[in-house]
Formats: sequence, C-alpha cells, structure tokens
Amino acid sequence: MQTIEKYNFKGKKAFVRVDFNVPLDENFHITDDTRIRAALPTLKKILADGGSLIIGSHLGRPKGVTDKYSLKHILPHVSDLLGVKVQFANDCISADAAAKAKALKPGEALLLENLRFYAEEEGKPRGLADDASEEEKAAAKKAVKASQKEFTKKLAALADCYVNDAFGTAHRAHASTALIADYFPNDKMFGYLMEKEVKAVQKIMNDYQRPFTAIMGGSKVSTKIDVIENLLTKVDNLIITGGMTYTFTKAQGGNIGKSLCEDDKLDLALELMKKAKEKGVKLVLAVDAKIADSFSNDAHTKFCKVDVIPDDWEGLDIGPETEKLYAEVIKNSKTILWNGPTGVFEFENFTHGSRSVAEAIAEATKEGAYSLIGGGDSVACINKFGLANQVSYVSTGGGALLEAIEGKVLPGIAAIEK
Ligand code: AMP
Repeated sequence: MQTIEKYNFKGKKAFVRVDFNVPLDENFHITDDTRIRAALPTLKKILADGGSLIIGSHLGRPKGVTDKYSLKHILPHVSDLLGVKVQFANDCISADAAAKAKALKPGEALLLENLRFYAEEEGKPRGLADDASEEEKAAAKKAVKASQKEFTKKLAALADCYVNDAFGTAHRAHASTALIADYFPNDKMFGYLMEKEVKAVQKIMNDYQRPFTAIMGGSKVSTKIDVIENLLTKVDNLIITGGMTYTFTKAQGGNIGKSLCEDDKLDLALELMKKAKEKGVKLVLAVDAKIADSFSNDAHTKFCKVDVIPDDWEGLDIGPETEKLYAEVIKNSKTILWNGPTGVFEFENFTHGSRSVAEAIAEATKEGAYSLIGGGDSVACINKFGLANQVSYVSTGGGALLEAIEGKVLPGIAAIEK
C-alpha cells in the first residue's frame, strides 16, 4: 500500500484531497468538525516533514459558485486546528490559486475554494433543461468530460505529489479523488485516514475470522440489496433489521399494521431468505417490535410479536426478545459489521434496540472480536451512546463503505493502487 508514512515531503508541495464536507449552521458555524480532525494527522505529518499543503475539498452539493458552500467559512477553524495560518484561494484553478501555490514555503498551507464549484470536478453536466433531448444530454456530457481533463491538469499543476485522504468520496471517480492521480505515477499515496479505512475494509472483506455477523439496518431493502447479496457470500449470520424488517414479515404473511413496507419487494424478501438458506447463512429477523400509534417520539407505545401488529400501529424499534436474540448472535461472533439502526433512533423513545446492538458489539470487541461500524446513522448511534472507543473501527464513509462491501472497486482507491 502506498502511504505517506515513508514519503519525505521536505520541499514538496502536496495536493491533499480531504473530506471537509462538514455540517454548518445558519451562521456558518461548524456543528461537527470530526471530518476535519480526522485529516489532521496526515496534514500535520506533511508540514512536519517540511512540505507545504494545497488542500482540496468539496462542501455540500453546489450547482455552481454558491456563497453558502464556500470553504472560506471553515478557513479560520482549519487554521486553528492545524496550528498554522492557512491561506485561501477563492477559485481552485485560477491564476491566483496557481500563484499562491507556487509561493508556498515549507510548513505553509493553502486551502482551495470548493472543488465542486466547477462541474468538471464531478464530470457531470449542469444547467440542462428538464426537457433536454438524449442528444443534448450526450453532447453536454461529452463537453464536460473534455473540459474535465483540462481542469484536472490545472489542479495537478499546483503540486509535486498527491495524497488522497478522503474516504467519504472514494466511491466517486471525480477529478480530485481519482483522475488527478494519473499525473503523479510515482508520487501518489493514501493519507493516514484512507490507510485505516482501506485496511478496515480489507479486514472485513478478505481477512475475517468466523463467525462473521453483519447487522444491516435502515429503512429500505431496495437500497441495500446489493450489499445484502454480497454479504450472503461471506457471513455466517445476517441480521436484517430496522424498517426493512416489516417487508420480510409481510412477505411471510404477517400483519404489520402501518409499519414501513416496500410492497413491491415482498418477492425479493422471500428470495433473499431462500438464498440465505441455500448458502447456509443464518438470517436473523426480529421476533417482536416496539410499536407506536403514530410516527412520533410522543406516541403511545407497546410491545408485540412482529407479525401481529394492529392495523393502526407501526413498528418503530425492535422489542426485548429481539434484543436478546441479536445480542446472543453478536456476542458469539469474531467479526462484526454494523450498518443502520434497528429503529427510528432519531426519536429518543426508539433508540433502545440500537443501543443494545451497540452494547453487544462493544462486549464482543472486548472479548477479541473485530468490529467495524459504518454509515452515518450507525456512526451517529455509536457516538451518541458513547461507545465509539469500544469498537475496533468507526468508518468515516457511508456510501463509500457500502460500495466497498458490495464488492465494488472504489475509484479513489484504485487510482492510487494501479
Ligand atoms: P437508511 O437511510 O436506509 O440507512 O435508513 C436509516 C433510517 O431508517 C433512519 O432514519 C431510521 O429512522 C429509519 N428507520 C429505522 N427503523 C425504522 C422503522 N421501523 N420505521 C421507519 N423508519 C425506520
């Protein structure tokens, strides 16, 4: 693995792609700076070596230059955390950016404006009319792909070497996350954060110990189907939980009241159950639920068997029997992957199931299991329950992690490794 550890940045200008896509409040104050802190070890190592930094990131999903998504809002905080006064280029490929990058001395840092202010970063056309014809769409795509090359070349020209430390966007073949690497055949590498993420994925996908248990929660089967299919080829136990539960319950003829359900995925649920059986995977589904008479934290609640939910009620979390069932499976595992809550964890009264899963994972980890938590909601859960330091690894990637688990090659990783 090409990492920054053995690279000497002395006198070099490093283009570092980070993920500073942090949440901001209405006054542009950062509400959670985890992503900035996560990149600090890489940035500090480069500065300590006597290198200089050209930091590139996206923020939000701008459709062009938008003040709301300007990285100038986070500049003071980046300077504070890094301990050096970071300069700013208000356009990532302008002559001003090039001049500022060129003038950087060892130990100095420059933050570039939001890379996604340019459509070329993502390589997707913008501003197409809703009624654009297929030909118009194809022409616009061709045009942006052509100008993407020029954009990437200009970004690459700013630096002597390239470091990717943005796992959150590793599943995107964007200019700064993948294409730019071609300009640095001998000077491209993973930052410390990427290295940890790549190793965690490798451990889960190739180097796992059995029994291997995956806990897949969340709202819809349809969005997790590829992940579930791939996991069925690896795991011993697959816990399917959260809103997905009720599609499986209904498919088997149970009454689910007004619980979340994908009626067009009932056959798929049965098929997945069949596949699990064929592959010898133990598919673990909820046996009871915490049901509510409305979708609200203040709803009346009670527990019942998962397949006899009254008509006007809905399952918003798992019940105590299910908690026990899951905990037993989790505690007997040597490898654990958790993605997605067991219920509507945003409502305090429906967090109990997710908390019990998190606690069982922490306990198994204490007994020597390897545990990986990924995806925004499960990460939010593990942090909320104060258990992040009691699991093996908490990934910073949501979509990227899921695509890696689907078995896909992530462009951001492939670009460094090829
Ligand atoms: P996803 O975005 O598919 O990963 O799903 C996460 C979302 O699923 C969270 O916002 C949860 O509130 C939601 N969720 C989990 N369990 C349920 C449930 N029983 N009913 C409705 N939504 C749920």
